[in-house]
Amino acid sequence: MDKRSEGQNQYDIIVVGAGMVGAAMACLLARQSRDYQTGPLQIALVEARPTPEFNPHQFDPRVAAITEKSRQLLVRCGVWDGVAAKRASPYEAMEVWDAEGTGRIQFNCHDIHQPSLGHIVENAVLVESLMTEIAELDNIDLYCPAVIVDYQNDKQGISIQLEDGTPLSANLLLAADGANSAIRQHFDFDTVEWDYGHQAIVSTITTEQANQKIARQRFMPTGPLALLPLNNEGDLQHCSIVWSQETSEAERLMGLDEDQFCAELSLASEYCLGQVLRVDKRFAIPLRQRHAKDYVMHRLALIGDSAHSIHPLAGQGVNLGFADVLVLAEEIDRAVKRGLDLGDLSVLKRYQRRRKPENLAAMAAMEGFKRLFAAQPLAVRLLRNMGMSRLNQVAMVKNQLIKLAMGL
Ligand SMILES: Cc1cc2nc3c(=O)[nH]c(=O)nc-3n(C[C@H](O)[C@H](O)[C@H](O)COP(=O)(O)OP(=O)(O)OC[C@H]3O[C@@H](n4cnc5c(N)ncnc54)[C@H](O)[C@@H]3O)c2cc1C
Repeated sequence: MDKRSEGQNQYDIIVVGAGMVGAAMACLLARQSRDYQTGPLQIALVEARPTPEFNPHQFDPRVAAITEKSRQLLVRCGVWDGVAAKRASPYEAMEVWDAEGTGRIQFNCHDIHQPSLGHIVENAVLVESLMTEIAELDNIDLYCPAVIVDYQNDKQGISIQLEDGTPLSANLLLAADGANSAIRQHFDFDTVEWDYGHQAIVSTITTEQANQKIARQRFMPTGPLALLPLNNEGDLQHCSIVWSQETSEAERLMGLDEDQFCAELSLASEYCLGQVLRVDKRFAIPLRQRHAKDYVMHRLALIGDSAHSIHPLAGQGVNLGFADVLVLAEEIDRAVKRGLDLGDLSVLKRYQRRRKPENLAAMAAMEGFKRLFAAQPLAVRLLRNMGMSRLNQVAMVKNQLIKLAMGL
């Protein structure tokens, strides 16, 4: 494949953004291309911020619920053992209930003969583990921290210029630069987007009772509260919270002191883990749904949150991004083996055709959930509660649902 000629920095692929999605993309491409007859793909990975560091004594307030399908991608990237050795919290059951009624659904991994339903993993653990593997791969050059000051996309290829004057060019550029993607904006990709009018308060809490490795979510008319179980060497007294609230309510909660916040959170969680004893530093993240109408143009593809960002209520965001990675890696592999130009629109459109329907369906489902649980007339609330209770009793449908959510 293209060689990195001195001074020219010519690559096969440039990945911009080494968050969870971009780092996994670079890692998988570099590893899967090691045996290519034409030689491994040469990859540049450009990241604006220094790599976050895993702190064994402190939980990262940003976590993700990782499905089995995503875990298998991390195995293929050669990083799962490193992630598990640092800290990954398997959850064995999930409980979802309606704050305004008796509707409740429970899922358990034993019902579908699996050791867990998924893992709660801190974002910093994932990114640091991927970056450790990337440092071992000699067909990836990492530019970090680096600021991109110019982009060119023409017949010869796509190129970027870094602030220190370094030029990089490639046949294909993958934008994994997150929800506010500068690349998406620079190249005028149209988006459909709207504000949820919600902010998510995230933090780590210490609770009176052990979390029993159960992920809990309570739906309130003002937004869902998720209590994601953390496991620190057998200590189950911690949870990561994602408390989505209408903006004015979120601002009020952010203004409370620790004791007041813990008291309100204990109440909002219906004391399902007893009292909330402590809360770490809180962060409020505005939530916005965004979907690029196209993910690709000649020599350029958007992946992960740069293409789609959704409400965190079902913990699907990065799992959808990892699914983008798997599909795009397959399409790139197919193109290399057929001797095609990796940046050709026909190659990239195959990726878009395969990923758009699933991403759109997930976004529609999240919007539906959000509206279903927002304040509703009594009749809708009754139906909602009956529906949840009914579903909870039909094991076959419930087990199919959970397998679907796990990507099995
Ligand atoms: C409160 C909350 C809870 C969530 N919980 C879950 C969950 O449980 N499960 C789940 O699947 N998803 C969850 N998500 C969604 C998940 O966090 C995102 O989908 C995921 O972070 C997207 O990863 P990414 O790599 O695409 O983007 P990002 O994580 O945003 O990474 C983008 C990277 O690009 C870099 N970058 C940006 N601009 C440039 C530039 N110009 N040049 C170079 N580098 C650049 C950034 O520094 C960053 O490292 C949650 C989201 C929120 C807000």
